[in-house]
Amino acid sequence: MAHGDYKFFRTTAAVLTNIFSSDCQCGRFEDNYHFFFTCPAYNRMRTSLLNFVAQYCEPTLDIFLFGYYYLDTNSNIAIVDAVHLFIKDSMRL
Ligand SMILES: [Zn+2]
Repeated sequence: MAHGDYKFFRTTAAVLTNIFSSDCQCGRFEDNYHFFFTCPAYNRMRTSLLNFVAQYCEPTLDIFLFGYYYLDTNSNIAIVDAVHLFIKDSMRL
């Protein structure tokens, strides 16, 4: 993966680290895992994200935030784009 690709993921991780450190609208503590994997508020768009990433690898929080070393650049870019779309569609930021 090219150096520039990591920048996308680092940006995502940095933003989420700063934003997701308080109570969620659903009443639970909101951290990155809650946002991406368990919050009921985002179930519908989560299905799309998980199905998309599953084409490349098993979806995990680390892969959403940092990419996956064993995938090529284009695959990692596709994943980070899907993660960013999820964030945008959630209207959380
Ligand atoms: Zn929640």
